[in-house]
Amino acid sequence: MIEVKDISRTYTIGESQVRALNGVSLKIDQGEFVAIMGASGSGKSTLMHILGLLDVPESGRYLLMGKEVSGMNDDELATLRNNVAGFVFQQFHLLSRMSTIDNVMLPCIYSDQQGDFRADALKRLEMVGLGKRSDHRPNQMSGGEQQRVAIARALIRNPVIIFADEPTGNLDTKNSHEIMRILTELHQEGKTIVMVTHEPDIAEYAGRVITMKDGQIIEDRRKEGMTIRPEISESIIKVDHQPLFKPSRMLGFVVQAVHSITSNKIRTLLSVLGILVGVASVIAMMALGAGAKASMEERLKSMGSNLLSVRGGSAKIGGAAQGTGTVTRFTEQDAQSIAELRTLVNRVSGVVSGVAQTVYLDKNWSTSVEGVDYDYGEMRSTIPDVGRWFTREEIQARQKVAILGTTVVSQLFGSEDPVGKTIKINRINFKVIGIAPPKGSSGPRDQDDQVFIPVTTAMYRVLGKNYLDGIYVEVSSASNIEPAKKAIETLIRKRHKLPVDDKESFNIRDMTQFQQMLSSTTETMSMLLGSIAAISLVVGGIGIMNIMLVSVTERTREIGLRKAIGARKGDIMLQFIIESVGMTLTGGILGILVGIGVSVILSTFAGWAVKTSLFSVLLSTGFSVLIGLFFGLWPARKAAGLKPVEALRYE
Ligand code: ADP
Ligand code: MG
Repeated sequence: MIEVKDISRTYTIGESQVRALNGVSLKIDQGEFVAIMGASGSGKSTLMHILGLLDVPESGRYLLMGKEVSGMNDDELATLRNNVAGFVFQQFHLLSRMSTIDNVMLPCIYSDQQGDFRADALKRLEMVGLGKRSDHRPNQMSGGEQQRVAIARALIRNPVIIFADEPTGNLDTKNSHEIMRILTELHQEGKTIVMVTHEPDIAEYAGRVITMKDGQIIEDRRKEGMTIRPEISESIIKVDHQPLFKPSRMLGFVVQAVHSITSNKIRTLLSVLGILVGVASVIAMMALGAGAKASMEERLKSMGSNLLSVRGGSAKIGGAAQGTGTVTRFTEQDAQSIAELRTLVNRVSGVVSGVAQTVYLDKNWSTSVEGVDYDYGEMRSTIPDVGRWFTREEIQARQKVAILGTTVVSQLFGSEDPVGKTIKINRINFKVIGIAPPKGSSGPRDQDDQVFIPVTTAMYRVLGKNYLDGIYVEVSSASNIEPAKKAIETLIRKRHKLPVDDKESFNIRDMTQFQQMLSSTTETMSMLLGSIAAISLVVGGIGIMNIMLVSVTERTREIGLRKAIGARKGDIMLQFIIESVGMTLTGGILGILVGIGVSVILSTFAGWAVKTSLFSVLLSTGFSVLIGLFFGLWPARKAAGLKPVEALRYE
């Protein structure tokens, strides 16, 4: 069944070389019970690892059931181990955070079998006399019991060969003989057993004793009357493995991952916390950004849409227009003829502004007075919520009615209701008919520190002007803004007989440019907030990587064991990736909840405008999965690349 020819294995440690196996040839038949004996360091374990496909020799041939295994790659060897071999080690190598029954079932998740292995595992446990202890943890058991669990695990895949390396090395005499009794029984049932031991009374159980010295076989002794069974055909050797991503396997891996990330609670909690903080801040920052944007848009809407402002003088900042041309004084007829540009213009309102003293009873307040036309209310969203807007008749008849900004209201009236009261503006009595909706301040200017009165009243009764300071024009659509500007310019030049090259006497300002600038500013700001938060997510990811690397080192022996019982590279990688993604995803989901919570708290208690979006939730979930993948990859590769024998030996 097993045939090795002239195999050698040399270990290199720094400069020196140790020849652990030196041209060993050996044949083991189906159904044999072989004990390999020899002094410590004679190469017993090395030989057994090679026979058990855990290690490969540098030279020599290995035929397993007539099939050459020397050329197989790591994954093929893993599958082969899973299918034909069972291992029992001196140190038991049980996974301490799993129940005994889960330990026994472990090889099944790396097999191509499907279904529930629990009943099967329980049967093996009963066979070794531990049927009642299936829920216990390995560390709640004695050494002898742990080794019996390990034997049950070795049997679960129904192997043809059992490899046992000093199975009684850590046990007392009584337990040693109990273990040997079980192995003898298995041998009688037809299992081939290869056992390493240095104790002669243990070797006595075997039918054949091979003695080694300095990497060579010096004696090979068979007992009389040992039964040898017919050879099994090589058809049971299966090396082609099933695909990695099969739902049944994935489920097994997820269960394993949950086991291991919950077994180290504090550490998991801390690394999840890193991601949680990152995701929560992404959510909260993006909500803040979106909120700021929304309130900015609200503000912009109150400025009016597609609005042009026609003003006298040049467009120089500060209004210090020097030059020869005179500042244009617009007339009501100008406004009228602009309004007649029908396809381009929706509405028009002439305005005059000035400063005036307002008085109510014993309070007085200096404020700015805006004389406005009927359409101004709609155009600039100034229709009062309390009280009403001017009527056309009031404007026509130069009525003394006023609409107050909120700052003026609080200065003159305090908490009193001003609607219907009479105030003085520059010593003229006005009736208050409404309160303008608050607009907040733009720059240093408080837009609520204003009084609106009809444009006619302002010109002829309050400010003593016979011209307009400016004209607001609402263009019919955004695409008409440029043509409208052109048309208005031509019109004004014609009406005021201005030369074409004159740039000083009036200007047309496009308010939408200002709006676009503002909204792009808020956009930049929310991007900035989002990216700062994203950085904290990356920092959280590095935390995960750190934890996973520690975990790989700490679990080296576990990885070795998993590989020994048949886990392929991909299986180990998948397990570690699932663990890291599991942690980041948990952090992500908790972070979303915390982030939304923080946003709600900010909006209710601090009064900040926040707006959580589905997009930010999806983005940060996706991002946390990606971070788990990205930062988990390196540790996972490191784990997957470990050699089974070296990993098992790791202290
Ligand atoms: P045994 O099991 O008979 O005690 P081993 O097969 O474990 O012996 O070891 C045989 C020789 O190879 C010993 O000299 C040991 O020091 C050496 N050896 C075993 N494993 C390694 C290793 N991973 N690296 C270096 N030397 C090793
Ligand atoms: Mg050894």
